[in-house]
Amino acid sequence: MKAMVLNAPGHLLQYRSIPDPVAAPGQVLVKVSACGVCRTDLHVVDGELTDPRLPIIPGHEIVGRVAAIGTGVKRFAIGDRVGIPWLGHTCGHCFYCKNHQENLCDAPLFTGYQINGGYAEYTVAEATYCFPLPDNYSDAAAAPLLCAGLIGYRSLRMTGDAEALGIYGFGAAAHIVAQVAQFQDRSVYAFTRPGDARAQAFARRLGCVWAGGSDVHSPVDLDAAIIFAPVGELLPLALDSVRKGGTVVLGGIHMSEIPAMAYRLLWGERIVRSVANLTRHDAEEFLDIAGRTPIHTEVVRYSLSAANAALQGLRAGRLTGAAVLVPGVAADADASGE
Ligand SMILES: [Zn+2]
Ligand SMILES: [Zn+2]
Repeated sequence: MKAMVLNAPGHLLQYRSIPDPVAAPGQVLVKVSACGVCRTDLHVVDGELTDPRLPIIPGHEIVGRVAAIGTGVKRFAIGDRVGIPWLGHTCGHCFYCKNHQENLCDAPLFTGYQINGGYAEYTVAEATYCFPLPDNYSDAAAAPLLCAGLIGYRSLRMTGDAEALGIYGFGAAAHIVAQVAQFQDRSVYAFTRPGDARAQAFARRLGCVWAGGSDVHSPVDLDAAIIFAPVGELLPLALDSVRKGGTVVLGGIHMSEIPAMAYRLLWGERIVRSVANLTRHDAEEFLDIAGRTPIHTEVVRYSLSAANAALQGLRAGRLTGAAVLVPGVAADADASGE
């Protein structure tokens, strides 16, 4: 099969022919039809996440069809459409696994980081970590649900019943979360890179009540904010716009250093918390919501071999919505790299 392979952080992915993977007991072999490009992939490729198994095939927003099943798999049959997310394996017996926090497992394996992922024509995954997908999404449209959507949803849940919600960084996760938040009757305030008129227009088009630069104070006191951009400087700015008792959720897996800040920004029982990974329960809950509420995922398709261009588009902030690799299909964006 063809795959995009990371041999060492800081290098481009290599387009290579490698043997098809084989489903071990408990695993499914999946023919990939779409794989989303997540900011976490960028952190893996750039070496900001420091524990990859190398060489590795990135990609953890995988949509495909079961092509073979390993012994013992009852959950899926050949031909079933499945989604494969970031959480690929947990130990099942540590403190966190036993206490409904498998996202914090002491010995996890993550798809596209320690387990080969979806930047390939085929992949294998443990069947108990795969999910059926709602029928109302095409393969490419469903891909961003699997990380941007469900880790975004976990972040949204951490804001409790906040009505006025700020979102910092209006990319793949934000554009899904903004829609879910509105279905839940929340008002969304979108904060983008200063001067990014295109992202601000995109946010307004998706129903955000306000959109502006992250250097601007919110027009109202926010009940909560989620920061998806991996930029530590945003935390004091977000805290300054959140009311007493409000929460700032850090929704990214990596963030640059958070600058020293005045205690008054945190004073008033404001809460700062990170969101790490996902549980399978999060995936079931979010995919159920996605099946009942039509979430529009804005997708830019790339061919598999153009994964480096997709990552560069994400790095440069050029993408509106989510990049998705589609093996064997003419792409929207290969020529321009956007
Ligand atoms: Zn565990
Ligand atoms: Zn991700």
